[in-house]
Amino acid sequence: MPELPEVETIARDLRPLVTGRTVLDARTDWPRMIAGTDPASFAHRLRGRRVMGVERRAKWLLLDLDDGAVLAIQVMMTGQLFVVPAAAPADRHVHLYLDLDDGRQLRLRDMRKFARVGLYRRGPDGRVLRAAPAQPGAAIAADAPHGGPSGSGGAGDPDGGEGPAGRDVFARHGPEPLDPTFTLARFRERLRARRGRLKSLLLDQSFVAGIGNIYADEALWRARLHPLRTAATLRPADERRLYRSLLDVLTEAVERRGSSVDDYTAPEGDGEMQDHLRAYQRTGLPCLRCGRPMRRITVGQRGTHFCSWCQRLPAADRAGAAALLHGLRAGARSEPAARRGPRWTELVGEGVLGLTADEARRVAERTRRAAATRRRVARAGAGD
Ligand SMILES: [Zn+2]
Repeated sequence: MPELPEVETIARDLRPLVTGRTVLDARTDWPRMIAGTDPASFAHRLRGRRVMGVERRAKWLLLDLDDGAVLAIQVMMTGQLFVVPAAAPADRHVHLYLDLDDGRQLRLRDMRKFARVGLYRRGPDGRVLRAAPAQPGAAIAADAPHGGPSGSGGAGDPDGGEGPAGRDVFARHGPEPLDPTFTLARFRERLRARRGRLKSLLLDQSFVAGIGNIYADEALWRARLHPLRTAATLRPADERRLYRSLLDVLTEAVERRGSSVDDYTAPEGDGEMQDHLRAYQRTGLPCLRCGRPMRRITVGQRGTHFCSWCQRLPAADRAGAAALLHGLRAGARSEPAARRGPRWTELVGEGVLGLTADEARRVAERTRRAAATRRRVARAGAGD
């Protein structure tokens, strides 16, 4: 699932390809992809609009248009964006076409149809606000009053609900970790206000925006902090290490164009961070710090990869973790392969722990090759 570095890479690739271009038309064969309005109104509001710039906020792509509207795209799990000649053939997984005035198309391809697009508007202070309810045949007025008429705006936002028009789309999102204003002091302040376990906390978009399963595991491994550790037990040095690790891994991942582990690819090609991950999906492989096999547990339904030697759980957190893991163990009873002994650190979600390091490496290699093939097919299918 694309996280901050992947969506940032897509934004950077898209920027020179679409900035300054005018949208001539928009078409979709999947109306549910469009939040808050129907395909006809959506196309009507886009027609003739010029793209002024491309930005990223959290895991969203934001295309600013010349009338103050913002076209937001969430690629979600498997969405892929390509800019290709309009005449290029497309496979059945391309669900949105934006015709550009240079003879090319911005295409959104999504095998699982989880991607969402929506039209919002830029507020005077730069925030992205819900647009007024779509009036049939009416474009978004650039000078719409702040707040706008009441009513429901776009649906399908990650917060789940439909908010009133004028509400900040990102009201419930936490700060951008790579923003210069996200200082250690600010991180500390947020951390000390929370009780959760670190893995869940990092995945919580209201805590910090843009982090998902890959970079949460990577940051915790780098900081030598157990995923089930609670924020309350962190000492100042732990907090500093987690802050540094988070910024370092995200910065490196942006430089390497993200991790192409599954379907993620960007308009200008795959990322290479997948070859530099040290924890994510390395179950059974030797820890790159101490050589002991990496473990996998499930936290909040997410596979969590860590080294139980380098990432120790302090005594204060063990009791609570045992209760949590007792639940996991009870749930695992229907799957005998998942029960491997009494220690919770031995629990493994997918039975991978039984493999030798060499076998695990071969499985990982096979998975990697299959994903690479899928991305090649995607490129061909999108007409690239
Ligand atoms: Zn280790």
